[in-house]
Amino acid sequence: MMTNPESASLASLTDQLANAASALPPVQDWQPENVGQIDIRIRRDASWWHEGSEIHRPELVRLFSSVLRLEDNQYWLLTPLEKLRIQVDDAPFVATSLEVHSDEKVGPLLVFNTNVGDRVLLGEKNRLHVEFDVNSGHPSPYIHVRNGLRALLTRSVYYELVELGRVQQDKLLVTSNAIAASEKKNPIFSLDKRVEMASEVLAHLPNVEVRPFRGLLANTMRDWECAVIVRGLRAISDFEYEVQLAETVTKDLLMALYITDECINCDVCEPECPNEAIYQGDEIYEINPDLCTECVGHFETSQCVEVCPVDCIPHDPNHVETQEELQAKYERLTA
Ligand code: SF4
Ligand code: SF4
Repeated sequence: MMTNPESASLASLTDQLANAASALPPVQDWQPENVGQIDIRIRRDASWWHEGSEIHRPELVRLFSSVLRLEDNQYWLLTPLEKLRIQVDDAPFVATSLEVHSDEKVGPLLVFNTNVGDRVLLGEKNRLHVEFDVNSGHPSPYIHVRNGLRALLTRSVYYELVELGRVQQDKLLVTSNAIAASEKKNPIFSLDKRVEMASEVLAHLPNVEVRPFRGLLANTMRDWECAVIVRGLRAISDFEYEVQLAETVTKDLLMALYITDECINCDVCEPECPNEAIYQGDEIYEINPDLCTECVGHFETSQCVEVCPVDCIPHDPNHVETQEELQAKYERLTA
């Protein structure tokens, strides 16, 4: 990341970038009569390929990129006389570096540099957005470059952005769940090792601390007096689940658990349940919510969650109960 606190104001930076953009050919105005296609493909890493061979000349790639147009979700190379369709696997450009300038009135100004020499000032016309893959749920961050053409942020640029976004005044706690690292789950790294590795990677950030926790995250956050929790999501369904969970924990409620279809029928959880709430269902193990007390009365943490090797036992928002109700259920079951 290049930081340039002495740089010009927003107005002069905008002028510079507008001048550079105006030097590009006016492809949006061209209406060529000859339409065809050419065997050129831009791969996800923004490399250009012609008839199966990579185009290695940067000046040629830059020239082609300057006459690229997006039209009806298709990419075209244009001249005033001809319009040729090409294939683009993802975004046609990648953002390869980030500059941080400062403006007294508006604060930091972020300029993204692309692989083909574009410089893009983050703002109203050039927004960042994230898309999620429909199959994997994997997120991809993009910035708009010009006329619908966009650049995929490289991982290093994305991490630079994350670093810029870290908490400036307060402390940021990075935490790892002790349950996920419990020996019963046979993790690759012990909890101590995970904390050590995260601490090492984040050591250059003075207001970041790495701590392990055990039990329900919401309770731990209360103990640590945290105002905000930032969680990683693997898929959209994780987000929906987290919203339901957040609504529940903010009302001081608890939930029974259920087993998802990721269960591998390993039989490990069933004997651990103190209430015999777990049983072999038609295809996978299941939990009887009438018997599950979330281990209230027996243990501080849910034993089945602790031992499940594939993390397939989340809370069930459809079975919300208070601590008192779970305690009463425990007393009923053990009477
Ligand atoms: S949370 Fe406890 S009571 Fe509920 S199913 Fe798991 S082991 Fe049984
Ligand atoms: S421990 Fe997890 S994977 Fe194994 S049977 Fe229980 S729910 Fe299924």
